[in-house]
Amino acid sequence: MRVHLCGVRGSTPAPGPDFLRYGGHTSCVAVAHDGGPPGLILDAGTGLRQVSALLRGGPFTGTILLTHLHWDHVHGLPFFAAGDRPDAQVRLLLPEQDSSGPDGAPSAKDVLARGMSPPHFPITPGQLRGQWSFGFLAPGEAKAEGFAVEAAEIPHQGGRTFGYRISDGHSVLAYLPDHCPTDLGPGPEGWGEYHPAALALAAGADALVHDAFLLPDEVPAQAFLGHAAADYAVGLGRRAGSRRVILAHHKPDRTDQALDLLAARFAADPHVIVAAEGTVVDL
Ligand SMILES: [Zn+2]
Ligand SMILES: [Zn+2]
Repeated sequence: MRVHLCGVRGSTPAPGPDFLRYGGHTSCVAVAHDGGPPGLILDAGTGLRQVSALLRGGPFTGTILLTHLHWDHVHGLPFFAAGDRPDAQVRLLLPEQDSSGPDGAPSAKDVLARGMSPPHFPITPGQLRGQWSFGFLAPGEAKAEGFAVEAAEIPHQGGRTFGYRISDGHSVLAYLPDHCPTDLGPGPEGWGEYHPAALALAAGADALVHDAFLLPDEVPAQAFLGHAAADYAVGLGRRAGSRRVILAHHKPDRTDQALDLLAARFAADPHVIVAAEGTVVDL
């Protein structure tokens, strides 16, 4: 399995000279079978724009799984050149939504269109070119593009959020870019609970891409934003037996220098990596 980190920033893109090495695009990871083009995309933040280059001028044929619908996970959709062309074939799946709201039971396309339609944006999801289909995903097991997918609900803030476990039968990638474990209690260090859903998703994974938005000393004042501390991600990887922990979803004002300091703090553990946009990880 080849994993392309196409966007590793959280909340909002971070352009400018202080963000060149770790990158400013928001959440997007593209997954390929060895040697092939990426067919499975996890989240559609602005990093989705980077996926078109990986397809070398070809159209995207595959599946996009969204962890949730926050802006930093969907704003790349209308700018995905390889997916917005007549020969593209895209299946987009998002977490099943509560249908008890005022709209009754809207379709996945309708839910997505709440944030992507005039006057918020010039076009609707249905106006993307190519063959697009939109659907809900329930927690549990699914198949996508030759990968086994396990989806589990995890605590975040403001909308149902899934973590994913992706397997090609040899390697396993766990992906939890937005995760607020303090919602379930302080846990042993105050960084949040190591709860069964997170442990199951990360169990024995070859790589765990995890929310590292906060530093431990920011948790008391900022956990309400819905995120985890980098140290929690490392703790989860250790407890779950993950082979690598890839710290991601960096805070938008976390500069290259600040992320170097974060990396230095874990330098003694070669299995901890601070995610940088453009990095390719072979599992
Ligand atoms: Zn996010
Ligand atoms: Zn979020």
